[in-house]
Amino acid sequence: MGGNNSYEMAVRQLTEACRMLQLERGICEVLKQPQRVVQVSVPVRLDSGEIRVFTGYRVQHNNARGPFKGGIRYHPELTLGEVKALAMWMTWKCAVVNIPFGGAKGGLVCNPKELSRAELERLTRAYTSRIMDFIGPERDIPAPDVYTNAQVMAWIMDTYSAHLGYPTPAVVTGKPVEIGGAPGREAATGRGVAIVAKEAAERFNLSCKCVAVQGFGNVGYHAAKFLHEMGYRIFAVSDSKGGIFSVSGLDPEAVLRHKHRHGSVLGFPGAKEITNEELLSLEVDILVPAALERVITSANADNVNAKMVVEGANGPVTPEADRILEERSIVVVPDILANAGGVTGSYFEWVQNRNGFYWDEERFNAELERVMSRSFTEVVERAESEDVSLRMAAYLLAVERVARVRELRGIYE
Ligand code: NAD
Repeated sequence: MGGNNSYEMAVRQLTEACRMLQLERGICEVLKQPQRVVQVSVPVRLDSGEIRVFTGYRVQHNNARGPFKGGIRYHPELTLGEVKALAMWMTWKCAVVNIPFGGAKGGLVCNPKELSRAELERLTRAYTSRIMDFIGPERDIPAPDVYTNAQVMAWIMDTYSAHLGYPTPAVVTGKPVEIGGAPGREAATGRGVAIVAKEAAERFNLSCKCVAVQGFGNVGYHAAKFLHEMGYRIFAVSDSKGGIFSVSGLDPEAVLRHKHRHGSVLGFPGAKEITNEELLSLEVDILVPAALERVITSANADNVNAKMVVEGANGPVTPEADRILEERSIVVVPDILANAGGVTGSYFEWVQNRNGFYWDEERFNAELERVMSRSFTEVVERAESEDVSLRMAAYLLAVERVARVRELRGIYE
């Protein structure tokens, strides 16, 4: 996944924002580095009886504005550089939507598709015990990310609670509703993507009807589902095995049922099969990359045929590709705004866990819409007043907010 490249990409984006904000050089240096990098070895006995040692990470980028917050990814190609980039992006994302969290990310180098449920549980519990001292409701709150889900969060919550001796739901978000998860959280990232896509289409007078979504997981499926409900036609979706395309449009719920039954979107009745690369170059109005980072690069940005790219995934467009898309007048709604519905929903879940007072889904969705719409407006207004891209505007807002708090709190030497 080109982890070091992702980190270099994150540092380049930050450096450019610091330059525009004329931030003191030392503050920029502080923001470039994660505050803490934890690497752990996680031994697990497989079902076969064999012991395997997995590598795990937790990177805590910045907690000036509040406890560290960020997902946990399980992926065979996970690298430390990638986790460092994702942790930094979390800091900016929380600041863009103005919620009181800092940024972190974690993960395990493993292929969950090759592990049994029992192995996955043992691995998750062993990993949790190794990062125990660094997480907690006031310290660092993990959440799901690629190839982790509510069940994985339940195991983390249970392991953490067992060590403390009492239930501690606020240690993770994205939990099952039965143990303190918030109704609405699972769909929140995709709902947020759909909200900002619609607002951007209206704001920039793009008559958008057709959508292609790369990655049909939590974010991609929910983004497709809500855009479909809003009246958009879902032309194409894909997963790691490939994509499907239908001119008359796909019903995301039917595609999800097919994926559950057959393990992939491929083979969906009536749809034509396409590659992930072909999906990125389809002639559509809105392209939503919602899989992994660095999929639109200088090598294929010229082939993008969408009016607008809405970044469901973190870091799907490289800085070089960003420039090409800008030259071609393709609007890019940046990840740190577009997919911030997830962490905003996590914030609502954490608030409810700590209050011990639970909202219904209607309230959750209304609050989410309010935060996403307000943040979208703030980013667009900043872009217009400074004549910069939406990405740069989001960075200016975020870095400024974090730097201001750093300035108020001072440096403890
Ligand atoms: P997920 O595991 O639920 O889904 C990932 C999807 O991507 C799967 O359908 C998988 O098949 C597909 N995929 C994997 N490799 C691919 C490839 N090479 N080409 C095409 N598709 C591929 O993960 P998710 O939670 O939906 O996360 C997707 C992206 O959204 C990630 O960048 C993640 O960091 C970001 N994100 C997630 C959340 C969240 O709340 N889950 C919040 C913000 C951002």
